[in-house]
Amino acid sequence: VEQQAAGMTQSIPSFPWRDNFEILAESIDTLTTVEMTAIGPGRGIVRPLYDAAVAAQGGSPILSAARRLVEVVKPGSTVVLSTGIVIPDFMPVGESDGPPGIAALCSILSLGLGALPIVLCEEETAPPIRDTIEALGLPVRTYESAKCLATAVVIEEFTADPALAAADAETLLDRLAPSAIITSEKLGVNRVGVTHTSSGKRLDAKRLRIETLIEAAQRRGIYTLAVGDNGNEVGFGLIAEAVREHKPYGRECQCECGSGLACVNATDNLIVATVSNWGCYGLTAMIAGLIDRVDLIPRREEVHRMIDACVRAGGIDGATAMQSMSVDGIPSDVEESMVEMLRVIVSMGLRRRPPRPF
Ligand SMILES: [Zn+2]
Repeated sequence: VEQQAAGMTQSIPSFPWRDNFEILAESIDTLTTVEMTAIGPGRGIVRPLYDAAVAAQGGSPILSAARRLVEVVKPGSTVVLSTGIVIPDFMPVGESDGPPGIAALCSILSLGLGALPIVLCEEETAPPIRDTIEALGLPVRTYESAKCLATAVVIEEFTADPALAAADAETLLDRLAPSAIITSEKLGVNRVGVTHTSSGKRLDAKRLRIETLIEAAQRRGIYTLAVGDNGNEVGFGLIAEAVREHKPYGRECQCECGSGLACVNATDNLIVATVSNWGCYGLTAMIAGLIDRVDLIPRREEVHRMIDACVRAGGIDGATAMQSMSVDGIPSDVEESMVEMLRVIVSMGLRRRPPRPF
């Protein structure tokens, strides 16, 4: 049979004629950067910011990040992740962009790479994050309990006090010795140290000082990665000038600081997507491709359950402030369908089509 197949495909040049994972990354990047944002300060920015991210990182950010994670995350090591945002009155316990993507990453980091995921968030945002992770079937436990289990996720707080952040960061890194730090949709500061919402308004609400932890981790040579969609999040320091150029309020914000919302905190890699969850699903799919574990890309039903759990626990749509089955104004059906497309993109990219005699 093998000989027959070989005979039939004799005239076909032997693959790869391009790096197969670069082709895969191209598909994943295309899907996760499709413009689908309503008219407002989020529309029309994903493509120029993605292009800037590719230029700054010398290729697909998702491919670079996936390769680095597969390389640095050793079985039994911990990986620190972070998401969550508090905007009093509007999103008191956070939003639906962030937790589902982080949960998908927890799953592949644990089940695919053998790591223990530790999610850092504000106390307020912990309930929707916990419910979202559990909706994907991952138990949430204390650090001590999780170490005894084959698969579990830990949720912890990190200080929101700038005066304590530097010392707490060193203590946390000493205790957990993470192999990587990954954030999604996690706000940082602009060049004068002010945090902004995606519409350029000043945000002084409680916010854990993830940028201080990232800086401390970088001094230790720990790999850092951020996922974002607006430019006010940690990671965009890598392309802050592009944020100032292309994002409304990027250069001039709506607050008295007058310095724009462009975040100056940089990470080793930055993934830009239309919606941060999409970037996390894309990264999950890319890792799944590299380690040949297509089964670890979440299924449609799992994404539905995650968003449902997040919303029921108070995570709102960040674009509309509605307690609805949508993320950043986009119906949840889009995320549910996206993981199905990602799975086909990866599984087709890993297998050879049957020979055809015509
Ligand atoms: Zn400002």
